[in-house]
Amino acid sequence: MAKTPETEHPQKAFGWAARDASGSLSPFNFSRRELGSEDVLIKILYCGVCHSDLHAAKNEWGFTNYPIVPGHEIVGLVTKTGSSVQKFQVGDQVGVGVIVGSCKTCDICQQDLENYCPKVISTYNSKDQDGTKTYGGYSDIVVVDQRFVLRFPDNLPADAGAPLLCAGITVYSPMKYYGMTEPGKHLGVAGLGGLGHVAVKLGKAFGLKVTVISTSPKKEVEAIDRLGADSFLLSSDPEKFKAAIGSMDYIIDTIAAVHPLAPLVSLLKINGKLITVGLPDKPLELPIFPLVLGRKLVGGSEIGGMKETQEMLEFCAKHNIAADIELIRMDQINSAMERLAKSDVRYRFVVDVANSLASP
Ligand code: NAP
Ligand code: ZN
Repeated sequence: MAKTPETEHPQKAFGWAARDASGSLSPFNFSRRELGSEDVLIKILYCGVCHSDLHAAKNEWGFTNYPIVPGHEIVGLVTKTGSSVQKFQVGDQVGVGVIVGSCKTCDICQQDLENYCPKVISTYNSKDQDGTKTYGGYSDIVVVDQRFVLRFPDNLPADAGAPLLCAGITVYSPMKYYGMTEPGKHLGVAGLGGLGHVAVKLGKAFGLKVTVISTSPKKEVEAIDRLGADSFLLSSDPEKFKAAIGSMDYIIDTIAAVHPLAPLVSLLKINGKLITVGLPDKPLELPIFPLVLGRKLVGGSEIGGMKETQEMLEFCAKHNIAADIELIRMDQINSAMERLAKSDVRYRFVVDVANSLASP
């Protein structure tokens, strides 16, 4: 008889799963593998709610394999370690982000870029080494190879720090790689959601002038007073938009939906860089003339490797950077997802997993 998610592994686990393209989540019994020698068993305390969880739960990218337990911004406590685990001890506070495995041997892995390994294993909706499916952090426990577990700095809050594990590294890595950290330069942050609001804070920590480019007028006061942005550009305000043309050195585009790139390209100075990290479900149109005539660069970036993710956590701990969160119970996840779909988020939902995930 074919094994079910509940019986394929020896350790019982419980979480919330989406079972079809409605994306609606509900309680789900499944199981986790027995610990291998390199594995760490983690009791999950908190899990952030990334827009990728929503894209995947609704099969917006077309490769969701239901049932799916989303969640890849996990903070928890180590409760057991495999026989070869040196890096962690029972009781350690740790983080798990978007990936839980890779080949570990290819050129790319050797360069600490496991996130770009052709055999990368995502925290959920992916095939694990043993052929079973991975399930994410909207659940009570998780078993992860120690290479993909992060030390979570003591002075970072476990709840508000959780979103750094995806949102944080996704904006930190391109800022470093594309050289977008030169103090005094002007950074535009397009889309003020989970990724965008962390980009604002990182930009200020790097000494940049930061302008938020947003479709939500109600986010203006907070962007400046609470998040520390220097200015706010409402993308639907033609006068202000015109005045900002050619004023930015870099833009990080975190927009989750299809949107025109031409206006963003026009905001860049000559030699400016537009780096897109958002993952809309359809291709975007890229105007070539303004790129060629302005020697402008458009690039992309996906999360970061394990070494850089650890570096980012230490950087955030040093600069007191965490997410601004709304802490929710697991049974509030569906309404949180509805709000996320409407850009009504300030600025990351985090599920209080340990205190609200009651097994039926
Ligand atoms: P989020 O919290 O929903 O924020 C996205 C923001 O984009 C919204 O708050 C909104 O900001 C803006 N926006 C949404 N719809 C828009 C539209 N139609 N036109 C213009 N702006 C719009 O999402 P997130 O968690 O930050 O994720 C953002 C995107 O990055 C998602 O596509 C996600 O899948 C992707 N992602 C990529 C990576 C990676 O490795 N590259 C990692 C994580 C997430 P305003 O209200 O300010 O306009
Ligand atoms: Zn994410």
